[in-house]
Amino acid sequence: KNITIAIDGFSSTGKSTVAKQIAKHLGYVYVDSGAMYRAVTYYAMTHGFINTNNFNVDGLIANLDDITISFKFNPTLGFAEVYLNNINIEKDIRTLEVSKFVSRVAEISEVRQKLVEQQQQMGNSGGVVMDGRDIGTVVFPDAELKLFMTASAETRAKRRYAELLERGERVTYQDVLKNVEERDYIDTNREDSPLIKAKDAIQIDNSNMSLQEQFDEILKLVNR
Ligand code: C5P
Repeated sequence: KNITIAIDGFSSTGKSTVAKQIAKHLGYVYVDSGAMYRAVTYYAMTHGFINTNNFNVDGLIANLDDITISFKFNPTLGFAEVYLNNINIEKDIRTLEVSKFVSRVAEISEVRQKLVEQQQQMGNSGGVVMDGRDIGTVVFPDAELKLFMTASAETRAKRRYAELLERGERVTYQDVLKNVEERDYIDTNREDSPLIKAKDAIQIDNSNMSLQEQFDEILKLVNR
């Protein structure tokens, strides 16, 4: 039977990497909910609602209907890339610049409402693995399997730093660590849908786990 798998946790816990593998193995759809918050942030940055010294929240809220987010499976990559108003922005949303603003955009209730609704539609027939911050608590409170991934801030910052370097971004480890810690803080302290472990979620600390070990562990839970 096709179940719903909700994976939540802090930034850069490696949720998406293992989620993609599990979805591929089960023939499920993988949805990266963080990409949707990043897409709204990218929209705000490219439409003048966010710049270094100003964040026009009301302006962004007034234009939410102008934002259409979609996913299209890329067979070469083996996962779905994110599109903003039919333009592929998969690479544009992964920069440290977007990461610096995304948690402030994700605090806005109107933004959450819009995205949660779309996420629920995408997962309404099951057979989905979705990762994020509020998937097991808000988006799919009835998900058959809920996971909560953790790892130390240093482990996470090291992973994210390596990823950004690989993409050719010129960043320092200190900047990346600061960003990870800032997002943790905002994500756990916001009023609307703060990041918390769902009561029935299974916690996995992957600080010292290989990808294969995580995959095996999760698959065991799926087949329980
Ligand atoms: O998962 P990722 O790190 O790409 O998410 C980027 C940001 O989007 C998070 O730091 C968080 O602020 C926000 N987010 C959220 N709820 C989700 C997914 C992401 O608030 N379900």
